[in-house]
Amino acid sequence: KGVVAIVGRANVGKSTLFNRIVGERVSIVEDTPGVTRDRIYAHASWLTRDFSVIDTGGIELAQRDFVKEIRMQAEIAIEEADVIIFVVNGREGVLPEDELVARILQKSKKPVVLAVNKIDDVNFRDAIYDFYALGVGDPIPVSSSHGIGVGDVLDEVIALLPDEEEDDHEGEIRFSLIGRPNVGKSSLTNALLGEERVIVSDIEGTTRDAIDTAFEKDGQRYRVIDTAGMRKRGKVYENVEKYSVLRALSAIEKSDVILVLVDGERGIIEQDKHIAGYAHESGKGVVLVVNKWDLVTKDEKTMAKMTKKLREDFKYLDYARIAFVSAKQGSRVDTLFDLILEAYENQRKRVSTSVLNDVLIDAQAMNPTSNFEGGRLKIYYGNQVAINPPTFVLFVNDPKFLHFSYKRYLENKLREAFGFEGTPIHIICRKRD
Ligand code: GDP
Repeated sequence: KGVVAIVGRANVGKSTLFNRIVGERVSIVEDTPGVTRDRIYAHASWLTRDFSVIDTGGIELAQRDFVKEIRMQAEIAIEEADVIIFVVNGREGVLPEDELVARILQKSKKPVVLAVNKIDDVNFRDAIYDFYALGVGDPIPVSSSHGIGVGDVLDEVIALLPDEEEDDHEGEIRFSLIGRPNVGKSSLTNALLGEERVIVSDIEGTTRDAIDTAFEKDGQRYRVIDTAGMRKRGKVYENVEKYSVLRALSAIEKSDVILVLVDGERGIIEQDKHIAGYAHESGKGVVLVVNKWDLVTKDEKTMAKMTKKLREDFKYLDYARIAFVSAKQGSRVDTLFDLILEAYENQRKRVSTSVLNDVLIDAQAMNPTSNFEGGRLKIYYGNQVAINPPTFVLFVNDPKFLHFSYKRYLENKLREAFGFEGTPIHIICRKRD
């Protein structure tokens, strides 16, 4: 897919440009409770390319320090992005902080697109020539607030993005472990890799992929995708919360299956719900992992109680299996491979159209639709239109007659009939006259 990061000193118009690029994209996934949308990461497209965009300006240090902050933002951009948009203010000329950013970017050798912002009309156009001095390429005049020149910047960006990867990595299952700091992501990764691991390849290439590890287990190839906290120990930004969210989001994007870790000893906190919400929204396969189970004083009811709590707190993840493990002792860690495999296969499952329609007919016969919004839903037929996750389009008399609870009911019927453990499924209604 490709990642684009926006950098530049404070108040040059990074967020305005970010919003211009991202536009108002409406998610087809229903809102997930508990997910706050801090907009520093979003999907965008231009012409034929899809990519994600990071506004590094949204990643701040607890103590404001503009120089440290800008250095951190540039480092994050270099680490995360394939192409960097460097924004400067055309009305203020080249400032020392711009030079600092330019030097850091130059050293990285990442492709840079230089956007000279606030060139709102032709009178300011000559101002862009000063910026050649930064030595990071040709300045492109833009006005983020007026939407001028943004297309030129994006033309340049997509020309520099690496070629799109095959979506199917030839049967290799990619997964990542996400969760708040200290939940045991690194420990569990090591436990999963274990003794049996066969490193298939050491991934060279971009820095971004350097820590991803490929291995083989029981004849199946896997790749575990690195997330925050699993490297870069000691970097200033390692503990910046937005940075860990960013890392989690980019790991999610590269994965087929997400292991959402919670701490069995400490229990579930708000931050866990945010993280789980991102996993759910991605449409990827999800396994809920309760780690540090060795530290919990247990009786015969403890596991059931924890399960109940997880089901309550992560209602939207009702399709995810729950595993209780100890990364430290290595107990039950191996069971995770079956769950990863199951979620992966169900993500890619295609069902037969005729069986699907039988299920829809049965579902309506057992539980007929009732009046809602001035009418009664009639489902004519359905079709699976996509995998990753399985997505169904139902052709109906009018989508507005679909009550949320009836949608839930249909989803459950599809799950019962076909078995979609570990993966969300999407149901979309379309009007057919
Ligand atoms: P990360 O920040 O999520 O990568 O967490 P780490 O893997 O660094 O683990 C944080 C701490 O929890 C370390 O001290 C680990 O030894 C400890 N830890 C991780 N998993 C377990 C577990 O299953 N049981 C116990 N008792 N400790 C664990």
